[in-house]
Formats: sequence, C-alpha cells, structure tokens
Amino acid sequence: FNIPTPVNEPVLNYGPRSVERAALKAALEEGRAKQIDIPMYIGGKEVRTGKTGTVRPPHDHQHVLATYHIGDASHVNAAIDAALAAKAGWEALAWEERAAIFLKAADLLSGPYRAKINAATMLGQSKNAYQAEIDSVCEMVDFLRFNVSYMAEIYAQQPPISPKGIWNRVEQRPLEGFVFAITPFNFTAIAGNLPTSAAMMGNVVVWKPNDTQVYAANVLMEAFIEAGVPAGVINLIYVDGPVAGDIIFSHPDFAGIHFTGSTPVFQNIWKTIGTNIHKYKTYPRIVGETGGKDFVLVHPSANVDVAVTALVRGAFEYQGQKCSAASRAYLPKSLWPAIKTGMLNELAGITVGPVENFENFVNAVIDEKSFDKLAKYIDAANSDSSVEVIAGGTYDKSKGWFIQPTVIVTQDPQYVTMREELFGPVLTIYVYNDAEFDDILTVIDSTSIYALTGCIISQDRYAIAQATHALRNAAGNFYVNDKPTGAVVGQQPFGGARGSGTNDKAGSMINLLRWVSPRTIKETF
Ligand code: GLU
Repeated sequence: FNIPTPVNEPVLNYGPRSVERAALKAALEEGRAKQIDIPMYIGGKEVRTGKTGTVRPPHDHQHVLATYHIGDASHVNAAIDAALAAKAGWEALAWEERAAIFLKAADLLSGPYRAKINAATMLGQSKNAYQAEIDSVCEMVDFLRFNVSYMAEIYAQQPPISPKGIWNRVEQRPLEGFVFAITPFNFTAIAGNLPTSAAMMGNVVVWKPNDTQVYAANVLMEAFIEAGVPAGVINLIYVDGPVAGDIIFSHPDFAGIHFTGSTPVFQNIWKTIGTNIHKYKTYPRIVGETGGKDFVLVHPSANVDVAVTALVRGAFEYQGQKCSAASRAYLPKSLWPAIKTGMLNELAGITVGPVENFENFVNAVIDEKSFDKLAKYIDAANSDSSVEVIAGGTYDKSKGWFIQPTVIVTQDPQYVTMREELFGPVLTIYVYNDAEFDDILTVIDSTSIYALTGCIISQDRYAIAQATHALRNAAGNFYVNDKPTGAVVGQQPFGGARGSGTNDKAGSMINLLRWVSPRTIKETF
C-alpha cells in the first residue's frame, strides 16, 4: 500500500544522564509549577463553562495540577450536533488525507509532544517514567501507525467476483451517525485509540474520558488538533456519565460505542441500548473491553526466575491497574519455596512513592475510591486466619493513595480475591499439589468469569499444549513463559471474551472493521 510500513516505536530508556530524562524532568517541573485550565473541545472550539473540577496527582493529592471545565446536557447536545455537522466533509475526504492526519499525530506524540504527554500521564495517572513511555508514547503512536496500515488494507481488499457484463464492488462506508468513545484512566493509549480508530474510518466522534484522565486527554487533543483533525470530527467533553448517556443513547443518530471500562458500566450501557433500540436509525456497533481477573499458572517444570518475573511485573507494574494484570496465581508445591523466596527478594527491592523520583517502581493508585476499596480487601485478608498475607498488607493515604504491593496466600481457589477484580497491587496465590495439574486447569477455566489474559510458565511442551487447549476460552491473550501484561500493537492484538468484552482486538483490522458498514454495488453493463 502507498503508506509507510509501520514499525513499533522504540522505547527510550530514560537513564540518569540521558537527553530524554532531562526533557522529561523539565516537563514534569513545568507541569507541577503551572496550574493549567482545561477546556472541553466542541466543534473545534474551546468551551469553558465556569463549573470546574480539579486534577491532582494521585501520589500528591493536595497539589492542584489543573482545573477542567465540566459540561451539562447542553454540551452533550452541542457535541453531537458538531459531530453531525462535520460528518459530510470528513467522510468525503480521501482516506489518504485522513491517514496523513493520524500519521502526523503519531510523529507529534513521539517527537515534540513526547516529554509533555509522558509528564501528563505520570502526573495525572501516577505512572512511572517507563510505564508512561510504553503507554502514552509507544503504544499510542503504534495504535495510530498500525491502524493507518490496517485501514489501507481494508480499502485495498480484493473486490468480489465480477462475471462478464457485471461489475460488483464493495464500498466501506463510515457508520450512519456518530460514535461515542468512553475511555478509562489506566492507559493514555486507549484514551487516544478509541476515538481515533473510529474517526480514521471516516466517522465523527463524541469522546468522554474518565474524569481521572482529563490531564493527559487534554494533551492528546492538542496533538490531534495540531495534526489537523478538523473541527467537529472529535469532540471532547467532560460530562457526568449518566447525563451524557441519557442523551447519547436515546439519540437517533447514535451509531456505535467504543468503550473501555468496567463490566457493570458496559452491561448497563448494553441494556440501555437494547431498551432504546427502536429509536436508532441503524443497529449500533457495540465494542467494549471490560474487566479482567488474569492468571499466572506455573507448571512444576517451570524456570523459577521466569515465574518470579512474571508474577512481580505482571501483578505490580502500574500498581496492578491494568485489565491484564496478574491477580491470581496457581503455583506447584514443589516450586513454591523457591518462588516465594525469589518474590520476597524482588519485593524487598521495590520502593513505593511519587513518580517524580524515578527509582519508585510502584506509585499511587488512581483515587480515594480505589484506595478505599483496596484497603477493605486488604483489611479483610489481614483479619482472616484462613489466609496468609506474606508481603505488603499496609497502606498510607496521608500524601498520596499508596498501597504496598500485597501478596495473599490462600488454600481456597475460590477465595474472594481469587475471583473478584480488585484493580490494584494485590496478588493472590493458590499452591496446588504437583500431581493435580489437570484439575487446576479445570479450576482456572471454571472460575474465569472474565477471560482477558493469562499465562503458563513451563518448560514441558506437553503441559504447555495441554494448558493452551484447556484454557482456550479463559483468555483472549495467552502467554507462554511471559507475564500476562504488555501486549504490543502489531504483535499481540489485544482483547478478551466472556466478562472481559466483545474481543474486537484493539489495534487490529477486526477492530477497524467495526467502524465501517459495507455497501455492495452490482452494476450490469
Ligand atoms: N493492553 C494492555 C496490556 O496488555 C492492557 C490494557 C488494559 O488494561 O485495558 O497490558
């Protein structure tokens, strides 16, 4: 195709004396020093309502980074109207023109915006420098560049057969109406991907990020505008969820939702769409990635170091706030003493604290609500004699929402923290008898209400094959001898089924195809 072949954006290392560390430090200092005022963007205009909320770093909750303007029902309507007004012009544009905009956005975010978007993600979402880099720069620009290549492939698809005297063709139309993107706090890349993937295919979008992600969303929007996204194509609003939902889900031009967030919210949205189905011009596309309760399964043949790394990195990077985070582990009795020693050694070297200190591996959880929820589960484990808390088990909210990486060992594979999604730095371990490997596969599959990610650590090919088959429906992303997090765009298309979503693989052609509605044209000569 007539577009650059995408390659994954290299991850910079931010070593102590590196140029990138100096630029990032400067951006962090600037971010902390000046309190910015964040508008909504509707129809290409900055909208300030005067009703404001504040953005504070989760690791320093008394410091105000920004104020942002909160809209009401009238702004939701204005965003829909602006999107619909932009529609004809946007969808008439050749796809190459749309590609140029998103390729430029990728170059901006990996170039002049690199330090700024990383600093925004670090300060606003409490991600350390490495976690910010792999998310808000590398994954974000990979989404843009790889999606442009998938888009080109879609438009270049083989036409259907045309017998003599007939010309059959298929046209990939944008959806008839607007798309609503709802984005979560935990990945800046997801916040950027959900509106842009739909927009790329010629759709117009109303975008509502989580209110704990306003700070980075604003930088993304600045980059999109600078890249040339026309007025009204992506409208960014900060409005209470139910207020936005009431209007959007009963609008005749609602044509699709691109969602990442919690399972109950997505299920409620689905029900609302069902109730309102007669109101829409067209059946809306429903695409969502929701929760996870992701497993690490270790076989007795495993390399202990690989297992320890998968557990520690899988469970505690970004404080376990990834849908893909390892949160339940099944470890064989024979290896348990060695794995336990290895894990406790690793954890002893981990420091918890603010992102401005680059040594801290674990930072704060996103907000007080999340902190309180996690504290409750930890308190329950601490006072439950049937389980043992072998690491962490403490928390401190005096300055930031800090939870120590916590490891719970249970003798009950159905224990509450083996089943429920906590979305924090808490790992629960069940130790099984080596001879019961087959049974543990059944336990894992039958307790996988969610089915996002999982991994097996093993050096035995029979065990790998057996687990890969037995757990085929228990994870949409399955890893062999690696942690269950960190899917790379273009390498491991990401998404899960069961309670984890519609499995329309983020950063793939499958996903982009949800944002077009094909028309077949038969012409007889
Ligand atoms: N794609 C991310 C990963 O593989 C997780 C995304 C999410 O948390 O929603 O780790």
